[in-house]
Amino acid sequence: MSTSKPVSTLELERPDKGALFVVTGPSGVGKSTLIRALMSRLPDLQFSVSATTRPPREGEVHGRDYHFLTQEGFAERLERGEFLEYATVYDRRYGTLRAPVEAAIDAGQSVLLDIDVQGARQVKQAYPGCIRVFILPPSVAALEQRLRTRGTDSEEVLRRRMSQVDEQLRGAPEFDYVVVNDKLHVAEAVFQGIFLAELSRIPRRRAAIDRVLAELQGPERPPL
Ligand code: ADP
Ligand code: 5GP
Repeated sequence: MSTSKPVSTLELERPDKGALFVVTGPSGVGKSTLIRALMSRLPDLQFSVSATTRPPREGEVHGRDYHFLTQEGFAERLERGEFLEYATVYDRRYGTLRAPVEAAIDAGQSVLLDIDVQGARQVKQAYPGCIRVFILPPSVAALEQRLRTRGTDSEEVLRRRMSQVDEQLRGAPEFDYVVVNDKLHVAEAVFQGIFLAELSRIPRRRAAIDRVLAELQGPERPPL
């Protein structure tokens, strides 16, 4: 449980330029949990709603959690070049729609993608400046336990998800940051710290520096 006062990028002042964040990790590691907590603290960050051919889970809302498409609907969009990246994960297709991401970046807004390792590689090609964060479980056994506890998947789907854990985990060293999601409050703090630090990089904060430096030249400089 976190005790500190929530920090908002609105309070922090919006950076001059948006950043593109990619969050990846095996299914059940806690990505959605960490992202939900982050988004409540950084409301200025835009979550990219992916398209998928998998059916909605209980409580998932079309357009908020995913754009749930038929196989044909997905294929048509793919044909039209609407995806920034896409992959087949656990026998289902998933893809990031290009238009909303590009619009947000052009408007100076930061965007977060929750995508798998194959997708993260494609985004790195398209946006070499993206920031990639890998969420690692404390152990493979803990990961399986979390998937079972979540209780959203049948035994067959669970087995399929576990069979692709290797591919996801082996991609971890390619990333810029790793967050070990063992104790949730620790992982939340580390995860949020990465975003706050990245949004504080000089190229994204030039305006704040220039504003204060301009005071040094202004006629109304108050006496020290
Ligand atoms: P993902 O989005 O990566 O598939 P979820 O966020 O749905 O994973 O988390 C999977 C399950 O693990 C959920 O039931 C969630 O409440 C639980 N969980 C997340 N983080 C932790 C943690 N640090 N310790 C124990 N359980 C966790
Ligand atoms: P889930 O079915 O549990 O929501 O997601 C399964 C996996 O698909 C997760 O690893 C998630 O990160 C990945 N995923 C979700 N959306 C996308 C996407 O748009 N592109 C890619 N490549 N992977 C995605």
